[in-house]
Amino acid sequence: AAVPAVVTQIDPKVEQYGLKKIASGKVREIYEIDSKTLLFVATDRISAYDVIMKNGVPQKGALLTLQTVHWFNLLASKVPSLKTHLLGTTIPSSLSLPQDLSSQLQNRSMLVRRLKIFPLESIVRGYITGSAWSEYKKSGTVHGISMPSGLQESEKLEQPLWTPSTKAELGDKDENISPEKAREIVGDKYAKKIEELSLQVYSIARDYAAERGIIIADTKFEFGLDEETDEVVLVDEVLTPDSSRFWPADKYEIGKTQDSFDKQYLRDWLTSNGLKGKDGVEMPQDVVKETASKYQEAFEKLTGKKWEDAIKGGA
Ligand code: ATP
Ligand code: MG
Repeated sequence: AAVPAVVTQIDPKVEQYGLKKIASGKVREIYEIDSKTLLFVATDRISAYDVIMKNGVPQKGALLTLQTVHWFNLLASKVPSLKTHLLGTTIPSSLSLPQDLSSQLQNRSMLVRRLKIFPLESIVRGYITGSAWSEYKKSGTVHGISMPSGLQESEKLEQPLWTPSTKAELGDKDENISPEKAREIVGDKYAKKIEELSLQVYSIARDYAAERGIIIADTKFEFGLDEETDEVVLVDEVLTPDSSRFWPADKYEIGKTQDSFDKQYLRDWLTSNGLKGKDGVEMPQDVVKETASKYQEAFEKLTGKKWEDAIKGGA
């Protein structure tokens, strides 16, 4: 099979076909289709420690997008009342994009509802690790919530915890905050809804993944508000290796850091080479390959589909 091109930038020519770029994140480009609809496009860029690497990871954008679509469909069948921003995965033919541009966008794009995004990262933690573990060691709390004493690193929590953070501007760092602080930021009514939906979706995904040998240690959701209907809508990517910590269940061991399906391999390489947080780092090919295979392995385990079949089926 042909080696897939790594797409770190979407060809700016798409803008000549009526796709107006309205935002650019670390990984995604967002285009306006009309006042109510956006095209949400995942590139193959990868970030770690809040900076973007110079080179990308082949097929990562498609892996993230098809993984997210899989979860949105699953969630729709389990929680009919849950609203998501997903409208579809076919690029509107009315755009009349030439073949090269439409194939660049294929599999990595979602048509989504345009919403007002709540300025919160709605994190749910089922296990204590990462910044939560650091805070706990210092103060016995997690996002200011007091925790039982004697917890060990990577230990499963009695109950999943809602531990929001702020949503920083590009280039800044998100900051862990207490649930109270989150209620001040978005208001009690919306905070309650966001917390409830986040815990509900996490629990469903955790149980589903557990049956497939993956522990979802923690994950981050985002929500938007439809100002016309006052609906709180699940947006962004969901339950991907970029937004979650996935651990292989058969290697789980309490009291230490876990191997994971996510960017751990890249993070470890950056740290051991003194490159953590440095801009414009070029990953060597073995790091790229290992990272790509981790993303693919997580996809195949969680969807039960072979990657080759999934991209043929297409989004
Ligand atoms: P940052 O926004 O800080 O760059 P990021 O690196 O996670 O964060 P990307 O994943 O590259 O960003 O881009 C996704 C962006 O799109 C996020 O800022 C997210 O809040 C926003 N977003 C997600 N869904 C929608 C939606 N339905 N309408 C409008 N914006 C959305
Ligand atoms: Mg994101």
